[in-house]
Amino acid sequence: MRKFLRNFIGLIALFLTLSVNASVGDRSYKFALCRSSCAQDTCRNHRPLSITDDTIVIPDPLPWYLIMFGWTCESNCEYHCTHRITNEALKRVQDIKMRVTNGVKAEQRELILLNERWKLQLEADLEKDVRLREACGALEFLGPSGKCLPRLASPPPGLKTDSEIRRQIEAEVARELALLPVIDKRTVQYFGKWPQLRVLGMQEPMSAVFSFMNLCVQIYAMKKLFRERLPLSFPLRNVYRSHVMIAAVAWIASTVFHTRDLWWTERFDYFSAAAVLMSGLFMSLCRIFQVLPRTPLFSRLLSACVGAWVLHVLYLLSNRRMDYTYNMTVCLAVGVIHNLLWIMYARMPRMMQQVRVMLMRLAHDHSHAHSKAILSPKQCRSLELLVLLMFVAPALELFDFPPLFRLLDAHALWHCATVPLSWWWYHWLLEDAHECLVTHAWCIDQHDTTATEFDELHTPTLQSDAKSAAATSALPVSMQQPIVDTTSIGQMMPSHLTPYATRVHEFLRSLRGWTRNIVHSLRTMFISP
Ligand SMILES: [Zn+2]
Repeated sequence: MRKFLRNFIGLIALFLTLSVNASVGDRSYKFALCRSSCAQDTCRNHRPLSITDDTIVIPDPLPWYLIMFGWTCESNCEYHCTHRITNEALKRVQDIKMRVTNGVKAEQRELILLNERWKLQLEADLEKDVRLREACGALEFLGPSGKCLPRLASPPPGLKTDSEIRRQIEAEVARELALLPVIDKRTVQYFGKWPQLRVLGMQEPMSAVFSFMNLCVQIYAMKKLFRERLPLSFPLRNVYRSHVMIAAVAWIASTVFHTRDLWWTERFDYFSAAAVLMSGLFMSLCRIFQVLPRTPLFSRLLSACVGAWVLHVLYLLSNRRMDYTYNMTVCLAVGVIHNLLWIMYARMPRMMQQVRVMLMRLAHDHSHAHSKAILSPKQCRSLELLVLLMFVAPALELFDFPPLFRLLDAHALWHCATVPLSWWWYHWLLEDAHECLVTHAWCIDQHDTTATEFDELHTPTLQSDAKSAAATSALPVSMQQPIVDTTSIGQMMPSHLTPYATRVHEFLRSLRGWTRNIVHSLRTMFISP
């Protein structure tokens, strides 16, 4: 166990190191020189200094799509310099390899010729005819073509095998490369990023595309899974839906950031990533400890999570430079706690129930203390596999390699992995919600007036599936499905706009409810004893 912990901590340390350093490229003299000379040539307004001054370079203006994504002449120079230096380094290494290989092969060919001559020399020395044997004197011998060939004083070295030749080439190449600085022989990072090919102005096209795919999953979950298939009577319906909304914002931020890395896009991405992690943790805490909305424990948990996120953002904003180490540590810690909570819930449900009771007592919360929504074996197995993958997916970043074809790097792969993972995770949550209702009858009942009021913020589902219907029928007390009054809206505008107006109305009501809830939670945290 201790060994595991040590390895785990080592792994995290390595992860942090890899994520934070690595701007060898932009710190190099070569890059600075390239950038300044490019800017001098293409970004300055040249005026001839004299009649003989012919140093003017008139560059082409940037295409509209680059300007649209915020590229400037200077950043364009940086982009081209990274690729120029990388190309030169790769070409240099290729040239060294080719030169060494040709040299070793030429040596081998020479060796073959010498060995053949030695063989002929031995044959000539064994010639019985003395005249022929001594025809070329002491320093030469008579070859098979009738010409005199120079005599070898000693036998030449034996021929090398293919593996010996390969090893010799590798050793010589390594010796030559050891003399070069890193930037001259390898692809290095610039401003913490690998050089990637720009596609239509997108700085990290694959990461941007995969972020967009993640966004599509969130939209699907928001529009379909948690809107139409998540039963109204499930107590955490609003929590799940809010989490998906935050995740959608985070993936918008990620798409924007990978499209163009600027001061504000970076902060937008980092802050929303932290928000989605905190929201995921809050959602997990609510589900694992079955915390009902509008209960004291719910308010305290919400206050703690919102407060922690606000403090995190304020701390990062207070520094002029982004504190990448701190940000990564916090995000990693929240992710690990989230995953550990779920794995403990799957493996030690009784212990988690005890923790729940203890938490409720601490928060003086006696609502639904009897509820025990424990996972079924099938759900348990899926959860364990999911959590394992959730641990493995970020570890993809550990294999921080230069992008394949200058497009696909480890970060893009990570974003690619989260597409199916989020999809599966949301389906798992949905199935779990149905099990909570059908098997454990963990639902909002009419006695819990505050919780019912909370649920009324939503429209009834248009297409409830069979499980949802079963869940509703399994309620201890029959529930009236809340109906949004749209008549007043309908009277005021054309009928084809009514559905949109209803949605806006619903959204504003949800927003108002959540704002009230957050303000209430913060007030509880800062004002109440
Ligand atoms: Zn990213």
